[in-house]
Amino acid sequence: MSNKATVGGADNPTTVGGADNPTTEVRAAIVVTGTELLSGRITDCNGPWLARRLGELGVEVAHLMCVGDRPADLAAALRFLASQGVDLVVTSGGLGPTADDLTAEVLARFAGVELELDEAMEQQIAAILARYGHLAPMDPKTLRVANRKQAMVPCGAEPLDPVGTAPGLVVPVVGGPTVIALPGPPHELQAMWPAALATSGAAAVLAPVQPFASARLRLFGLPESEIAATLREVSATLDLAPLEITTCLRGAELEIDIRHRPGAEAICAALIDQLRARHSRYLFSTDGSSLDDQLAGLLTGRRIGLGESCTGGLLAARLTERPGSSAYVAGGVVAYSNAAKTELLGVPAELIEQHGAVSPEVAAAMADGARKRFGADIGCGITGVAGPGGGTEAKPVGYVCLCVTTNDGAALARDPVLPGTRAEIRDRSVTVAMHLLRRVLRAAEAEAAQATGA
Ligand code: ATP
Repeated sequence: MSNKATVGGADNPTTVGGADNPTTEVRAAIVVTGTELLSGRITDCNGPWLARRLGELGVEVAHLMCVGDRPADLAAALRFLASQGVDLVVTSGGLGPTADDLTAEVLARFAGVELELDEAMEQQIAAILARYGHLAPMDPKTLRVANRKQAMVPCGAEPLDPVGTAPGLVVPVVGGPTVIALPGPPHELQAMWPAALATSGAAAVLAPVQPFASARLRLFGLPESEIAATLREVSATLDLAPLEITTCLRGAELEIDIRHRPGAEAICAALIDQLRARHSRYLFSTDGSSLDDQLAGLLTGRRIGLGESCTGGLLAARLTERPGSSAYVAGGVVAYSNAAKTELLGVPAELIEQHGAVSPEVAAAMADGARKRFGADIGCGITGVAGPGGGTEAKPVGYVCLCVTTNDGAALARDPVLPGTRAEIRDRSVTVAMHLLRRVLRAAEAEAAQATGA
């Protein structure tokens, strides 16, 4: 098993620590093929999808490669992967009827076997194409040649029934990795995956796999460097080698993923305890729940009104992404101009005059105004300088004033200077607002529980 701790940048995880090893690990590689992927004309959907599926099974994905439609390049990739000792290679693409679809031929050569005609497959493909014949009439001879090409399978391979017109293949390779070859169109590849796993070739290679257990922690407001320091400190007394720890900054939040094989549960729990003890102020999720999940729960039975300026309705959009949100989102106003703030949210013109449209005072008045305007229990106001222009020394680009107020008189405000581009500042403002809402709602819940003695 490869034991790594990962520490990452913005949406950009990195891995640190741990020992690379064992022999019991089932290691896989993914090779997506297609010149249009290399030219950037289309974005690879198959590699990440296959990586997730293999990870869920407990397979260690060691390489994810992309090669063009040149057979020599696919052959070179396969030789390289064999030299790395991977147990399984999953390929996508190149199984169709056209001249540049050469995956089956390359696989036969890689396995050191001949291609042979699978007559049943030939008939199956012919039957499929007959169903589409009225859409694109084809010369019968050309059609026969195309069918036959797709029905040529490497000797000893297990063919997989087509989902579109291209069959898949599971190819055993003596002294090398088993290869699962799947078609390129993502819906075909995904639909064929269960059949590929059910083959005896795939079952044999996957038999020793043990699934990973995993945990996901989410923190808000903690610099990533702090987590790196914590992991270093913890590792002085706790052997983290059996854990694979990945941290990734997502917008304004830090995600820590911990993955391990059966047997390392106690170490994982001890690490989570340490993180909780050191960073409880910032840790808002240890059960995988997202901020959106938590807010949806906390808002149940309440009504919220929103007054947004620099975020232009993004908070309303995020809260209403979830089905059923009409139960708690009363409404929102995008009050971009000063006049809109006054006319729609009742922000006194003098307040804007005195403190400026971007000020904690105006954010509070927007929260109150939205709450009252929508007859809600809780209100949120956001006003800021999203940039790139419009910043001053006192109120630079990224300066955002946020406030949450409730009918019970609770209020929580922040006025950070957020980093990033205009889009990032607007997105981060929404995240900060949602965390303020979470804190206010949790405090209200705790108070209610105390009052009822629960
Ligand atoms: P078919 O004969 O059904 O097209 P194939 O195995 O020959 O199957 P390709 O020719 O490699 O598949 O790809 C067909 C189409 O599928 C591509 O033009 C592209 O639109 C899509 N596709 C292929 N690979 C990918 C990928 N990795 N991610 C997203 N789309 C892909």
